[in-house]
Amino acid sequence: MKNFSYRGSPARIVFGSGRSADAAKEIEALACKRALVLATPHQKADAEALAVRLGALSVGVFAGAVMHTPVEVTEAALHVVSESRADCVVSLGGGSTTGLGKAIAYRTDLPQIVIPTTYAGSEVTPILGQTEAGRKTTVRHDRILPEVVIYDPDLTLGLPVAMSVTSGLNAMAHAVEGLYAQDRNPVSTLMAVEGLRAFAESLPTLVKSPHDGQARADALYGAWLCGTVLGAVGMALHHKICHTLGGSFDTPHAETHAVMLPHTAAFNAEAAREELVPAAQIFGGSIGGGLWDFAKAIGAPLSLRDFGLTEADLDRAAAIATENPYWNPRPIDQASIRTLLQQAWEGVRPD
Ligand code: NAD
Repeated sequence: MKNFSYRGSPARIVFGSGRSADAAKEIEALACKRALVLATPHQKADAEALAVRLGALSVGVFAGAVMHTPVEVTEAALHVVSESRADCVVSLGGGSTTGLGKAIAYRTDLPQIVIPTTYAGSEVTPILGQTEAGRKTTVRHDRILPEVVIYDPDLTLGLPVAMSVTSGLNAMAHAVEGLYAQDRNPVSTLMAVEGLRAFAESLPTLVKSPHDGQARADALYGAWLCGTVLGAVGMALHHKICHTLGGSFDTPHAETHAVMLPHTAAFNAEAAREELVPAAQIFGGSIGGGLWDFAKAIGAPLSLRDFGLTEADLDRAAAIATENPYWNPRPIDQASIRTLLQQAWEGVRPD
């Protein structure tokens, strides 16, 4: 066994159908009395209903969360936090809402309870990505890690199939990169393999039966595991490329992960052969081709071209993604990344 360091996440995880009803109990367990419920405009009604259920424990709703956590939105939310004298936040939604809760906690140290409704995995990481003047920066800090996460699969029953597929592949990308992370440990590897297995079994069922409660629970369980891997170990080429495409070309977050994953996995397949064996076995032997077949079978987007990128954009993306050196199992150079992007742009099956 190789040498490793391991640090357990101090977050409390509550999992199960109907468990979002425990939100009041969890607020009280944190010794809090005045929760501000956060959501996107799209999930405002759900947030208001939650605030009503919390009764005297809630001071209201801020439903202005948007993608990429713009600092202006955080400042508007901080104003509401201060006016309402909130002593904790409850984030109900996907990664965008979780991001706003984290941005508030980073600045105020208020405790966070997150009730995730997608598979993005942000709720179990101490990482915050935020944008200011069009630039996205990332911070990692213990204050950012939410104190409590309530995973209630009932709240994901209505997650549209297309979003379930791309959000699931987004989570799976955390696990695939976690398998070959330089700082991986035996626990992160166990979680990554189990998370991939959970999604490999649940996503095909969800595509056919979106309201299947068992498949929804399995997918959310996979999201917890894959998200925890993201929070625990370093990511490499795949996350770097998705960050580049989202940050510089405004491609959609989960969809970009979905398109890129088979290609980045294929790129690293030889260099990280041994580490990727358990994942390759789940997807039929060849990690890149197997993930591509899986993604195609569940109706995932397969081509960067569909996001409006041009071939000239690929030249620029390859340059940006290679301008600063970072660790990856296979050494990176601009020409090989350009070839990788071309394949993802065309949507061809990687070898
Ligand atoms: P999202 O939170 O932006 O949600 C997309 C839309 O779907 C929103 O309108 C949302 O209200 C809606 N939605 C969410 N759940 C729904 C449900 N169950 N039913 C119907 N509609 C629903 O999307 P996301 O993919 O979850 O999050 C993406 C963001 O999260 C990005 O900004 C990304 O950078 C961030 N992220 C951060 C980390 C981290 O560790 N910091 C990890 C993963 C993702």
